[in-house]
Amino acid sequence: MTSPSALYPKKVDLTNCDKEPIHILGKVQDHGILLGFDSETLKLTYFSSNAKEFLKEGLSDPAVVALNSILEDTIVTRIIQNTDNNKVVPLQVTVNSLPYICIAHKNENYLIVEFEPIGDSIDQIYYQQQMTDIITELGSAETDLDMCNSAAHLIKDFLGYDRVMLYKFDADWNGEVVSEAKEDELESWLGLNYPATDIPQQARKLFLKQGVRIIADVDSEPASLESLNVKDPLDLSRAELRAVSSIHIEYLKNMKVGATLTAAIIFNNTLWGLIACHHYSPKFINFQQRLSCKFLTQVFSTQLALKSSNAQLHKINNAGATRNKLVEQMSENWNVANGLSEHELTMLDLTEASGGAILVDGKCILLGTTIEEAEVKALNSWILKNRPNGEMFYTNKLSTVYPDAGKYAALVSGVLHVSVSKNNNPCLLWFKAEQEQTVDWAGNPDKPVQVDKNARLSPRKSFEKWTETVSGVSQPWKDYEIAAADALRNNIATIIIQKYDEVRSLNDELKRAYKELEAYSYSISHDLRAPLRGIDGFAQIIKEDYFEKLDEFGQSAIHTIIDSTNKMNELIDDILSFSGMSQQKASYQNFSMELLIDKVVNFQHVKVSYPNTVIDVQDDIPDVYGDSSMLFQMLNNLVGNALKYSAKSKEPLVTIGFSEKEQAYFVQDNGIGFDAKHSKKIFGVFNRLVGNEYQGSGIGLAIVKRAIEKHNGKIWAVSEKDKGSIFYFKLNKEVKK
Ligand code: ADP
Repeated sequence: MTSPSALYPKKVDLTNCDKEPIHILGKVQDHGILLGFDSETLKLTYFSSNAKEFLKEGLSDPAVVALNSILEDTIVTRIIQNTDNNKVVPLQVTVNSLPYICIAHKNENYLIVEFEPIGDSIDQIYYQQQMTDIITELGSAETDLDMCNSAAHLIKDFLGYDRVMLYKFDADWNGEVVSEAKEDELESWLGLNYPATDIPQQARKLFLKQGVRIIADVDSEPASLESLNVKDPLDLSRAELRAVSSIHIEYLKNMKVGATLTAAIIFNNTLWGLIACHHYSPKFINFQQRLSCKFLTQVFSTQLALKSSNAQLHKINNAGATRNKLVEQMSENWNVANGLSEHELTMLDLTEASGGAILVDGKCILLGTTIEEAEVKALNSWILKNRPNGEMFYTNKLSTVYPDAGKYAALVSGVLHVSVSKNNNPCLLWFKAEQEQTVDWAGNPDKPVQVDKNARLSPRKSFEKWTETVSGVSQPWKDYEIAAADALRNNIATIIIQKYDEVRSLNDELKRAYKELEAYSYSISHDLRAPLRGIDGFAQIIKEDYFEKLDEFGQSAIHTIIDSTNKMNELIDDILSFSGMSQQKASYQNFSMELLIDKVVNFQHVKVSYPNTVIDVQDDIPDVYGDSSMLFQMLNNLVGNALKYSAKSKEPLVTIGFSEKEQAYFVQDNGIGFDAKHSKKIFGVFNRLVGNEYQGSGIGLAIVKRAIEKHNGKIWAVSEKDKGSIFYFKLNKEVKK
C-alpha cells in the first residue's frame, strides 16, 4: 500500500505554496469517510484511514470490498446512473446501522463515495420560508453594497457562524472585506484587505469547481488516504471531504479560527469574491445546508450579474448616444478634431476621464485637466513605440510602466489611448487623475510570511490593521469606457474614409466642371463670336447704306440688333473672364492700392460714360498684397456696379477708400441699393436683383467673390433699398496658392 501523498513534494512552504497540489493532498477531513472505487469493477481502490471501523467486513482484505457490499443494490444502481451523467448524487443511507448522507461523484476512472453524518435535521416548512425570505430580500436590495450586507446577515442567521464576511477580489486578486455580519464581541474586519497570497491561485481554481466547502474542525488531524494497488494520487478536486493545505490550517490557527465555510461568488465565469464564514470553535454544516448556501450564493451572483449588467447596459447606452452625437459633430464639417473638442459635448463625455488630448496633423488639442503639450506628445510617442500594431493601450498606473509620468502622476495616472489609421493620425488620449487611496491591510501585505525559530516559513501571525497609502494610481478604466473608445476609433476611421471619398468625388466633379467650362468658353469665343460678328457687320452695313430707306420700325430694329450684339459681346467677355479667373495662375506681391484704384477709374472713362457722377478716392489707402490683375478685375467690377447703380441718382457719388473701423477697403455709392436680405445671394452667378433697365450679366460679383477667395479674404455688402450700397473687402497676407 502506498500513500499517494508520497508522490508529491513533502516540503511545501509559503515560497512554493502557490504550486502546492492541493487537489491531490491525499488527506480527508475526519468528520466523514471517503472511499474510491474503480468505476469499471466497482472494487475499492482508495479509502480514508478512518474508514476501518466502517469497512468492518472487508478489513482483513480491503481489496475484496465492492460498493454493493456496503450499500444496497438499488442505491448502487441510482449512484451509477446519476454519476454517469457527471452529477453529484446525495442519498440518505444506513451503514452498519448508522445513518449517513452518501455523496457520490465520478472522477475519471474512479467513483468517489463520501459518507458524512446527517447532522441537525431541518424543519422543512421553516426552511422553505427562510429561503423565500432570503431570495426576496436579496432581490429588493437597491445597490450592490446593500445586497452584500443583506447576504452577510442572512447567511449568518441561516448558518449560525460567528463571523460572515463578503470578500471581494480586485484585479490583482487582493481581497477586501466589503460586508460583514458578526457576533458583537468580535472585532470588525470590515474594510480590511488581504493580499493575494492569502488565497493562492490553485485554491481559487478549486473554488470555481466546487462552490461551497467547509473545514469542520481546524484542530482535528486529517485522515490520510490509503490506496490499493495503484500509485496515482486520487484527484479530490470535487470531494466534499478534501482536507486543506497545512499552511492554510496554520493560517486559520493564527487567526484563532476553529471552523470555516467558504462559498464562491462566481460572476461571468470568474471568481468575483467569496462568502467566508468563520467560527471560533468546531462547526459542522450538513450537506443539505451547504447546498442551500450554494443556492443562495448562486441567487446572489445572479442578482449581482443582473444589477451590474443593467448598470453596464445603462452606461453603454449613454456612451452610445454620446458617440452618435460626436459622430454627428465630426461629420458636420468633416472636422474630426473640431467635432470632438469644440462643442458643448466633447470626447471627454464618452468616458469618466478628467482630461484628454487629440493629436492630429501635427497639432495637439488639450481638453479638461491635462499635462503640457510636450508631455502629451512624448507620452504619445512612447505609447506608439510600445504598441506597434496600433492596438489600444490603457493603464491606471502609468508611472509604473512609463516612469517619466511620475512627475505628473497627480494630473495623469490613468491613460486610455487609441490611434486611428496606420499612420496614427489622429491619436486620441483620455486621462484620469491620480486617486490617492489608503488601503487597510489585515497585516503587512509585504510580509505574508514569517520565519520561525526553526528557520521555517509560516503564514503571518499578526492580523493587525496595517494602513498603506497608494499613489500613482487612478480609477481603473471600465469595460464600457474601453469599448466606447474603441467604437469611436472605428467611427472616426469611417468618417475619414467617407471624407476621403467625398473629397475625391468632389475633386472629380470639379475637374469635370472646369473642363466643361473651358469647352463652353471656347465654344463661346469661337463659335458664337463669329456669327455675332456677322450679325453685327450686316446690321452696320444696313445702318450705313440703307438706313434712310427704312421706315421708323426698321430703323429701330437695326438699333436693337446692334445693341443686342453689343450686350451679347459683353456677356461673352464676362463669362470668359470668370472662367479665366478660375484657372488663372496668380502672382502675389505688394503693390499700391491707390495706383490700382486710379487705373480702374481711368478704365471706366467716368467723365464720358457717367458725366454727372463724382468719384471720391480717399487719401491714405494702405498698400495691398495680392495678384494685381485679379484685383484689378475685382475692383473694376465693384466700381463699375457702383457707377452703374448710382447713375440715376440726383447727384451720383462713388467713394473709394479704407475703413479704419472695419479694417477693410470699401466701394460706396448713393444709388438704388438693395434689400439687405439679398446681401449674400448677389455674389452667386446670374443672380440679378434688377431688370433690363440696367445692363449686366449677373456675373460681376461672382468674379469679385472668386478673386477675394483666392486671396483668402472676405467681402460683404451693407445696403438698403434706395439708400445706396457699400461693399467692404479684406485681403489676407496669407493667400490661397
Ligand atoms: P450685374 O451684371 O447684374 O451687375 P453683378 O454680379 O455685378 O451683376 O451684381 C449682381 C446684382 O447685385 C446686380 O444685378 C444688382 O441687382 C446687385 N448689385 C450689385 N452691385 C450693386 C450696387 N452697387 N448697388 C445696388 N445693387 C447692386
